[in-house]
Amino acid sequence: MPTAKLRIDPWALARYHGELSGAFKCADLGRFAALVHDPGGVVRYELSFGLDEQHRPLVRGMVVAETAVICQRCLAPMDLKLTADVRLVGVRNDDEAKGLSGDFDPLLLTDQGESLATLVENELLLALSAAPTHPRGGDCRLPARYRASAAGTGRRPFAELARPKKQMK
Ligand SMILES: [Zn+2]
Repeated sequence: MPTAKLRIDPWALARYHGELSGAFKCADLGRFAALVHDPGGVVRYELSFGLDEQHRPLVRGMVVAETAVICQRCLAPMDLKLTADVRLVGVRNDDEAKGLSGDFDPLLLTDQGESLATLVENELLLALSAAPTHPRGGDCRLPARYRASAAGTGRRPFAELARPKKQMK
């Protein structure tokens, strides 16, 4: 079975303190791939499972994507290493999810198990900034067409409007 289709049982993994690690192709994670410039990258995950005091499944670990995105300031592609800290508690419903402490996000459990790809992808989507940009002082360069011409020596599109009205007749 391809990894992209793999379903996991967080209960069983938690009970046996299971660990999962591996990699997806970025292109296997459709919603994430649609947001990045280079869907050819690799996404690695390392997850460990356990139970909390209330015997709910805990998932902890890390998801790392090496990809490229479009800088939202200069619109040039830039390499991005995205790291998501995974801290999830398995919950059965919204009420349980609302009762969680701030350190953990809810993972809504179903009887059919969870898609590993979806779990990993959700973590990446949370970690991806809505408007990724080059770090300040880095490679960020506004494209020439957006750079303001302070000297003002170019065309004057409104010059014709300033023509004296007497020429109108
Ligand atoms: Zn930039």
